[in-house]
Amino acid sequence: METAVKKRKKENVFEFMLGIILFTLIFAAAAFLIGVTLNRYINELSQKRAAETASAVTSLPVVIIDPGHGGEDGGCSEGDAVEKDLNLALSRNIYDLCEIMGLPAKMTRTEDTLLYDMYGDLTDYKGKKKTYDLRNRVRFTNEENGGIYLGIHMNKFPQSEYKGLQVYYSPNNSESKAVADRIQTYTKTYLQPDNNRQTKKSGDSIFILSKLTVPSVLVECGFLSNPEDVSNLSDAEYRKALSMNIFSAVAECAYLEK
Ligand SMILES: [Zn+2]
Repeated sequence: METAVKKRKKENVFEFMLGIILFTLIFAAAAFLIGVTLNRYINELSQKRAAETASAVTSLPVVIIDPGHGGEDGGCSEGDAVEKDLNLALSRNIYDLCEIMGLPAKMTRTEDTLLYDMYGDLTDYKGKKKTYDLRNRVRFTNEENGGIYLGIHMNKFPQSEYKGLQVYYSPNNSESKAVADRIQTYTKTYLQPDNNRQTKKSGDSIFILSKLTVPSVLVECGFLSNPEDVSNLSDAEYRKALSMNIFSAVAECAYLEK
């Protein structure tokens, strides 16, 4: 009788221990499965977030900054102020701002050169340098997936009283006017309060704007024939301020377009 009781107790202890072991195993397996599932979920979530961030950045339009003229084509000039050099200096400032602020941008030229042989595919360009130069700027914008085209130029007029920045926009894309208006408004608000110029739709006379189909503007930054404008545009600090206004306007449009 006594032996049967002991045997029963032993069996109870054994069942109890077996229960604990089984419970531990089930608990460990469940924890393992939950851990694996949770880990996979976190990985998928972080991959999804990374992809969303990457697509947000890459979906920003590429700004093509095009300093007009170059090389043997100086554009207009007044004394030491030469259009091709001022165009390049301003364009570099705008490009630097794009780089710093993470807005994709490319420049058609970074050197003092015309772009008629940009692709090295011409054998005879005598008398056609300007034509090929303009065509290549259009080709560059299209081939580099330009999302916004920004041409930088200087103005000159026989009468010296005309002054102030003036923006032209392409008729081929309905977004062009918005970009032009923003640049014109920003410049008036922050830099040229007496500039009452309105943006203008370009005709066939501005070849690049007549050919491009992406939002495209050409900024005539000021009149080299006006003493105040030429003095301002020859000043590096003023050019930086102007560049900031142009960049801010374009960046705002780029983010809205996204
Ligand atoms: Zn020009």
